[in-house]
Formats: sequence, C-alpha cells, structure tokens
Amino acid sequence: MDSVQSDLRAVFGTENAFTMPISGTGSAGMESVMVNLIEPGDRVVIGVCGVFGMRMVDFATRLGANVVEVKAEFGTPLDPEEMGRAIAGGPTALVALVHAETSTGVLQPLSDIVRLARDAGALVMTDCVTSLGGAPVGLDALGVDAAFSGTQKCLSVPPGLAPVTLNQRALDKVAKRQTPSWYFDFSMLSSYWGGERAYHHTAPVSMIYGLGAGLRESLGEGLDTRFARHRDAAAALYRGLEGLGLNCFVDASVRAAMLTTVSVPDGIDEAQVRRCLRGEHAIEIGGGLGPMKGRVWRVGLMGHGARRTSVLRVIAALGNALAAQGQAADVGAALVAVNTD
Ligand SMILES: *Cc1c(COP(=O)(O)O)cnc(C)c1O
Repeated sequence: MDSVQSDLRAVFGTENAFTMPISGTGSAGMESVMVNLIEPGDRVVIGVCGVFGMRMVDFATRLGANVVEVKAEFGTPLDPEEMGRAIAGGPTALVALVHAETSTGVLQPLSDIVRLARDAGALVMTDCVTSLGGAPVGLDALGVDAAFSGTQKCLSVPPGLAPVTLNQRALDKVAKRQTPSWYFDFSMLSSYWGGERAYHHTAPVSMIYGLGAGLRESLGEGLDTRFARHRDAAAALYRGLEGLGLNCFVDASVRAAMLTTVSVPDGIDEAQVRRCLRGEHAIEIGGGLGPMKGRVWRVGLMGHGARRTSVLRVIAALGNALAAQGQAADVGAALVAVNTD
C-alpha cells in the first residue's frame, strides 16, 4: 500500500500525503472527490466540452450544488476568459474540469484556468483519468487541489481502481463538510491507508497488486520517455490517417496524444468500419459518444498500446475497411508514412 501511494504521487506530480486508489473505476474517483468537496448549495463552476464534463455536472447537480456550466464546442478546449468570468460571477467553492476529454480527444491547457480559480479562492479539481501516465499532469506545479484518475487508460492496468489525490486546502474543506458519504469518506479512508490500517472496507487486493505492477512499469520506463512514446505514436497515427485521406477532428494544437478523434468521411457507414476492425482485425476503436455519435471514430493509443506497431495495424485495418466500402486509398503509402518522420 505504501509503495502504491508513493508511486502514485510520482505520476500525479504531487507531494500530497492524501494520495490513494479508491475501490471503483474512474467514475468512482470522480464521485468520491465531488461528494467530499461539495456541500448542497455550493457554487461549482464546471467546464463542459465533452461527455465527461457532462458527467461532472450530473454528479454536482445530484449533490445539490449550484452548478454553473461553462461550455465549449465539442472538439475545442475551454476558453480561460469565459471560465474566469463564470468564476468571478459569485463566491465559488469549486472549479472542475477535464484534463484529457476522452470523448473528443482534446487535451485541455490547465494553467490559466487553475490560476484564475485559485486567485478567486476556489478549489480546483481535475479529471486526469485519461491523461495520467500518458502526459504530464504536474498537479503541484499547477496548483491543482484535487484530482482523480482510473487504472485502465494510460497506466495499462485492468479497470477497478481510481487513484485520487487531495492537498491540504482540499482536506480542510473535507474536514468541515456536513454531509459525508460513508464508502467514500476520505477521513475514514485515510485512517485505512494512512498508517493505522484501520479496517474500513475489504481492499480489492489483487487490483492493488495490479496497480502496483503498472506503476512500477511506468516509472521504470521513465515518465518522460513514456510521455514521448505517446506523442510519437500519436504523430505516427496522424501521418497514417493523412495517408488514408482521413482528417483528425481536433486542431493539432490541442490534441490529446492518447485519444485521437477521426472525422467519418461522407458516404461511409462508420459502425460497419468498427465491426470490420473488430471482426476481421481484432482491433476495437470507439464510436462517437453523446453528440459526437456517428460523426467520429475514437482511436486510443494508451499505455502499452501507444507504439508504432499498433499504429501500423490500425492504419492497415482502416484502409481495408474503407476499401470494403468502395473508398480505396493507397494503404501501402499510408503505412510508409507512419514510419516516415
Ligand atoms: C474513462 C473516463 C472516465 C470514467 O472512468 P470509468 O473507469 O469508465 O468509470 C472519466 N473521465 C474520463 C476523462 C475518462 O476517460
């Protein structure tokens, strides 16, 4: 337990004592942090530019928060000025936003929004489910107060745990809250993880061993090397897609390396392409979520999978699937482009 906590601190870029995996998937991480940091009536500003921002709005609303949504078009990042205006619109308890929006493939720049929130005295929470282990999250350097993640994205561990971390400012709020949860009671959980080992719930022991192994692998590779590998695989994917005549949905300046959204060309049955990839090539790519349904494919290059061999396979398979629908491209040239940088 101790080594999992210290390895989690390394990937989160934090010294926070309160750093531990919650028993549950990434959404349990989201719910646990929100239920600990939000009291009914609290003003909570949430950036929404994808499905996971919408999920945070759902949780905060159920908790009785006074929710202020700041929206950006799906496929674009949040505008810091708009976030700043919303934060300044009243005493704000919490500002919440998603770092890597897995539904759109946008990597949200954080520093300006975090600074505006902290200047206004609000706590800041970031969803790092898809970014952790695949891109720097550097919580302490940014000044993020609370964050959560999941194991099955860029840490390449089976799903089932949600790493969370809170700094002292956030823990001060937790200590004062009036409406605690039981399973997600961070005070009780810190007695379990924090040395006393006071029984709270039965830890999913095999999952914790799995997370420990994944963290050792990530840190053994070296975080900078790992992040560079994600960027290299993404760049290779962009070249291959271009070679097939396909367009990325998100502007190059804000693309998340670990999740690429690809615009579905006119005249293509997108679900049939996914069925072909899965049935004939044993590759699963995602369809669009929420309002993006039918408009994009989502190609994940996360953790172990973020390497050029995966890119070569998915480009070859996509080329095949498009040809099967009468939109043949020069697959050989696209494969050469993958490795030509
Ligand atoms: C996957 C994901 C979640 C939810 O995690 P689950 O493990 O599916 O519960 C939340 N936020 C983001 C950005 C995600 O990618």
